[in-house]
Amino acid sequence: MQILDGKTLSEQIKKEIKSEVADMVEQGYRPPHLATIFVGDNPASEIYVRNKIKSCESCGFTTSLYKFDNDVSFSELLDCIQKLNKDDNVDGFIVQLPLPAHINECVLLEEINHKKDVDGFHSKNLGRLLSGIDGLVPATPRGIVELLKHNNVELCGKTCVIIGRSNIVGKPLAMLMLQEDCSVIVCHSKSKNLKELCLSADIIVVATGRPKTLTADMVKDGCVIVDVGTNWITEDGKTKLVGDVDFDGVSKKCSMISPVPGGVRPMTIAMLMRNTMDVYLGYYK
Ligand code: NAP
Repeated sequence: MQILDGKTLSEQIKKEIKSEVADMVEQGYRPPHLATIFVGDNPASEIYVRNKIKSCESCGFTTSLYKFDNDVSFSELLDCIQKLNKDDNVDGFIVQLPLPAHINECVLLEEINHKKDVDGFHSKNLGRLLSGIDGLVPATPRGIVELLKHNNVELCGKTCVIIGRSNIVGKPLAMLMLQEDCSVIVCHSKSKNLKELCLSADIIVVATGRPKTLTADMVKDGCVIVDVGTNWITEDGKTKLVGDVDFDGVSKKCSMISPVPGGVRPMTIAMLMRNTMDVYLGYYK
């Protein structure tokens, strides 16, 4: 059984980006600039934002953080987005999710200039993905495909089951895997025959936010497993991070598996850096 090591690959990708940035700066250009809008004090989000900023710094990017209290109004956030949309010194920006319940996330994200939408959540970018036109692809699905390809996982003609149909993971990943000529099955909480569908899969990607969604009896021998889940659980008085896959059981049957931590999350951050670099270099007009 092989570990799909996202940590090492992400470090490699960030090193490449750092060297591209150094080349641009040497030629007299300013470095890429990624801004983050962060609302509230959710501890998990704080860690993610801190890690993203650290990665920006390690790539040589400029970063800026726009922090708001939980009771921020929609119009204050809209003002901030409009300012960043207009700022020529900002290449891309993200709104860290989730937002407080009184803010309509979908409506707010639509206000981001899609050319600066490095999270790839704007309907224009999701629509481009659906149509097969170049655009900004959400970082997690992009990172998953990169991780699979880097490890020479054959995708063409294979059956891929994706458990989870969110706009940020499951749905865009289904489009990317179709582009790679996989046969794709997307499952969700109402799927009645999840086990049978999983047993038919060559590749299973799990993104439910529920520990042990995928257990060994649902996996055929030699299957490739990608675990997207990030769940903080407390066991024996200790808090730890686990994925959505029963790692101990499933790792005995599969041929490859991404660990949590050290699998998809670092790839997501590396792809956020890559998306920002792509905007900076003018790939998306
Ligand atoms: P989400 O929006 O809550 O969606 C969860 C999906 O899982 C839904 O489609 C839901 O079905 C489905 N689901 C829930 N329980 C299920 C079950 N028992 N069987 C089958 N399907 C089930 O979650 P998300 O934003 O996609 O995130 C999923 C997980 O990935 C979370 O742990 C999140 O923290 C993690 N995540 C990690 C990264 C990373 O970089 N590693 C990035 C993004 C997200 P319904 O649609 O029917 O409700």
